[in-house]
Amino acid sequence: MQRGDTMADLTTDVRNIRGIGDQRAKALSKLDIRTLRDLISYFPRTYDDRTAIKAIADLQPGEAACVAAMVAAVPTLSRIRKGLELVKLRAVDETGALDVTFFNQGWQKNNLKVGQTYQFYGKAEGNLLRRQMANPVVEPEGRGELTGRIVPVYPLTAGVSQLILSRSVRQGLDACADILPDVLPDTVRQEHHLCHIGFAYENIHFPASPEALDVARRRLAFEELFLFTIGLKRLRSRRDDVRVPPCRDVDMDVFYKALPFTLTGAQRRCVEEALADMKAGKPMNRLCQGDVGSGKTMVAAACVYFMVQNGRQAALMAPTEILAKQHFDGLSPLLETLGIRCALLTGSMPAKIKREAGNQLAAGELNFVIGTHALLSEGVAFSDLGLVVTDEQHRFGVAQRAALSAKGDSPHMLVMSATPIPRTLALILYGDLDVSVIDELPPGRQKIKTVAVSGGYRERIYGFLRKEIAAGRQAYIVCPQVEESEESDERKAVTEYAQHLQQEVFPDLRVTFVHGRMKAKEKNAVMTAFANRETDILVATTVIEVGVDVPNATVMVVENAERFGLSQLHQLRGRVGRGQHPSTCVLISDHPSEETRARLRVMAQTGDGFKIAEEDLRLRGPGDFFGLRQHGLPGLKIADLGCDTLLLREAQDAALSLLSADPELDSCPATTARVEELFAQNADTLN
Ligand code: ADP
Ligand code: MG
Repeated sequence: MQRGDTMADLTTDVRNIRGIGDQRAKALSKLDIRTLRDLISYFPRTYDDRTAIKAIADLQPGEAACVAAMVAAVPTLSRIRKGLELVKLRAVDETGALDVTFFNQGWQKNNLKVGQTYQFYGKAEGNLLRRQMANPVVEPEGRGELTGRIVPVYPLTAGVSQLILSRSVRQGLDACADILPDVLPDTVRQEHHLCHIGFAYENIHFPASPEALDVARRRLAFEELFLFTIGLKRLRSRRDDVRVPPCRDVDMDVFYKALPFTLTGAQRRCVEEALADMKAGKPMNRLCQGDVGSGKTMVAAACVYFMVQNGRQAALMAPTEILAKQHFDGLSPLLETLGIRCALLTGSMPAKIKREAGNQLAAGELNFVIGTHALLSEGVAFSDLGLVVTDEQHRFGVAQRAALSAKGDSPHMLVMSATPIPRTLALILYGDLDVSVIDELPPGRQKIKTVAVSGGYRERIYGFLRKEIAAGRQAYIVCPQVEESEESDERKAVTEYAQHLQQEVFPDLRVTFVHGRMKAKEKNAVMTAFANRETDILVATTVIEVGVDVPNATVMVVENAERFGLSQLHQLRGRVGRGQHPSTCVLISDHPSEETRARLRVMAQTGDGFKIAEEDLRLRGPGDFFGLRQHGLPGLKIADLGCDTLLLREAQDAALSLLSADPELDSCPATTARVEELFAQNADTLN
């Protein structure tokens, strides 16, 4: 704009960028790159340092390197067999000769000219007398696009090559060089020694040096965390403006006396924190975090009791039918004795019963409903929904929570999560929620003995299972995982493994199985049978990861344990050790790497979910596990919450001090605009 350019802004469609036509735009759209901003924010996954040009004589077999060499003779083209073309040539520098082969790139024969010098990059092969390279990257000397520099490596998809992508990014950067708005206020940028935005984008894609890359990355990660903090703070203050009639005080002793046990101090504290919220006249938005088995359900039940005594309704949403059913079976007898009318509502229930429950809810004849996503369906309405509880938060997004709360008039929200989040991350992940932590287990819990072994121990493990089952216990086996690419074969893997166990290993025992592709009804039937001790061994996928409570089960065997994150293993392990019997978790892995074994050893050493989460984060990074997008918050593209802890703190401090100096951000409209863009999704879903 400043230059009178046709390039309006970063929202410009990529097809309008010089050098990117419809064809390429279509390919890029497969990577979700549609606008100029998408393009320049499509960051490399990693980099290939091709800076050093080696002499041919210095090439080490097995090592990837660049050489600058002259084509010494006309390349030959031969067809070895149908569909396999071979171009061979010899290239030389002052120190020696290199034999280069290209497979199925017949065009290289005429592309590479005798007497011309090219830069080749590839893995050196052969031996010290005869050096070779197969399918190297090649470009004319001096072009410096693919060789002789640090080259970005982008995540790709079919139809888009590294070259297409890096050329497109180049075009994109050139197109917006002068219009990139700096969303960081200048004072913040200077105070924290951050580079200019133009330098950052240029060097994150095409680093002039490793140092320049560091500077660029630091700036962009800071920016991301800074904007994120501001966005969350604003979401939260917007919520703080909403007023609701405060709940009145309730004599909770009636509830406490009805329980078969005494709540732990931590449970009591969480209940009190939640009740204080609900009495304050603002919608509660609280996360109750507690390790597996810490007794979150009772905290929820206390809140439900409190709300119903206030004359309003409550809903509990669980991620699976199994869990919803289990909560219903566990809670309704208790709550019914307290005069609370409860119902279960899940997708697999007959339409007639669902309709009936819906009618009763709408008429105010039910006080409390427990269900799955089915609660979100249009037919479900409440007469006066005052409290929404969601269990196992990482399975729901902000949007789903919001959809349920939309069925009431700013109802209070309690989110329960068994995923312990290290403190450093709580603000980022749950910045819009207040947090209570249940940091104490009910008394008498025994430590779950955990061992990590190789497959060679399988016979002995089966022997151990047999002994436990003879003693009246039950066991879970998480079956070998299928490769991600064959996810559809999950069913096959489970059924075959269960069949193998039943026929060949435990013909005298009762083996069943459950997997995510079964109908809800079938799943329920299998789980109920297991809970009723009608079966001995349950072979499962990770569908049993969340919440399931069968106190008589004392053994958890996990095959291919290396495929799981530590936090996930911790969740799985939490399925046992729920009764009075000592329990064992066996992690089987034949993975040879020391890193894997170290990871599994962590599991054997500690039962503390918070420690495990921290370790997980350190070893794996947050990406897959914490899934920001799943939380409905803008994802972090470049900041790594695992490594950037210090930067996170710095960016948070900067954001908070800016907000306290200028709460409406009047001094930096570019910052506000960007935050609003990033949080656009949340603007409609959060009140
Ligand atoms: P989670 O936090 O994993 O959801 P649950 O709420 O399922 O844990 O509780 C685990 C088990 O502990 C349940 O069987 C529950 O009845 C029991 N429990 C909960 N609170 C207490 C307590 N204060 N004392 C004894 N047992 C408890
Ligand atoms: Mg639970």
